[in-house]
Amino acid sequence: MKILVLNCGSSSLKYQLFDMEEETVLAKGLCERIGIEGSRLKHQPTGKEDVIFDDYLEDHDVAVKKVLEALTNAEHGVVKSMKEINAVGHRVVHGGEYFSSSVIIDDAVKEALEKCSELAPLHNPANLIGIEACEKIMPGVSQVGVFDTAFHQTMPERAYLYAIPYEYYDKYKIRRYGFHGTSHRFVSEEAAKMLDRPYEQTKIITCHLGNGGSICAVRNGKSIDTTMGFTPLEGLVMGTRAGDIDAAVITFLMQKENLTPQEMDNILNKKSGVLGISGVSSDFRDIEDASEHGNLRAEAALDVFAYKVAKNIGAYAAAMNGVDCIVFTAGLGENSGSTRRLICDYLGYLGVHIDSYSNSLRGKAMEISAPDSRVRVLVIPTNEELVIARDTKELLDK
Ligand code: ADP
Repeated sequence: MKILVLNCGSSSLKYQLFDMEEETVLAKGLCERIGIEGSRLKHQPTGKEDVIFDDYLEDHDVAVKKVLEALTNAEHGVVKSMKEINAVGHRVVHGGEYFSSSVIIDDAVKEALEKCSELAPLHNPANLIGIEACEKIMPGVSQVGVFDTAFHQTMPERAYLYAIPYEYYDKYKIRRYGFHGTSHRFVSEEAAKMLDRPYEQTKIITCHLGNGGSICAVRNGKSIDTTMGFTPLEGLVMGTRAGDIDAAVITFLMQKENLTPQEMDNILNKKSGVLGISGVSSDFRDIEDASEHGNLRAEAALDVFAYKVAKNIGAYAAAMNGVDCIVFTAGLGENSGSTRRLICDYLGYLGVHIDSYSNSLRGKAMEISAPDSRVRVLVIPTNEELVIARDTKELLDK
């Protein structure tokens, strides 16, 4: 079975084609600047040279067509015809309260997705456009939606309700949803395998630390709390996002600086986080470099970041009444031993001990805790595309 995984943004489209026999990636790629001058498709067939097609990609329909052409191209392709593709799995950002697991897409699902668009105005409309483009261009091919929010639908009310008038939850569905669910689910399942324990009998804290970051408390295989909320803005200090902040700061700043809601939103989402504190970059590599060269604001940014992660790990150990294992994943979590060290140095009270040699390694799933560590610490590369392909296959098999 061959499954195409799509991740559509407002002007981009990422894809991977999987052969599910051995779960191998046949090709992957990215369409950029869809509908904007200078658009291009970068196609990376496994075992062949990468290739760039720079035809204008007018809209997502055209982009999907070009992706299929690239996949079936005589020279750069990996399948003979589109007919070999059995299904498409879509990453969908927001499933609201409608979806607690992946689903085969039909008209009712699309209607629910449209209703969720208000909750994720930058993402869901683009996801829907991708779905409709595939319906047009690959008629009859099954499509599956896999949601960033679904894994967190098991959070209890005490974790998801905000303490604002209840009518706003009723009226607008304002509550905490959480994101990165596909990643938290994947790495927590993998962690249980590495611990050789039944997933249903574990207390795992997963730290997805990339450009955006979130932590999840996974008790007995279910998300019981996570740091992102109504939107991905809540929680940790991120590359450019502020994370938790006293809401009064927002009204104060809007009045002082005469800011519109959009301008305020832009500051909190695009100009804050470690970029905002350091003034250097949103990329942790640049900030680590600046800090090593004596930039005090860069050092402060890293410290604020690590402290916040450590505080949330403590909170989730309390929420679960214990923790067996802490997992680091995503760009920063997988690659930055120094950040993992900064975070784990706060966790001595939990009996966390890091093994310096293992912590300096990279690129594979591994344990970085020392043998005497009371809580085991793992690094597990995330693979959201593989989860999407697996869910798609499972729903099709049914
Ligand atoms: P996204 O949230 O965009 O998917 P990723 O999970 O790819 O992000 O993570 C990207 C971030 O990971 C980069 O911004 C960078 O800060 C960080 N990162 C990647 N590699 C390293 C590294 N070797 N050292 C420190 N930080 C890294």
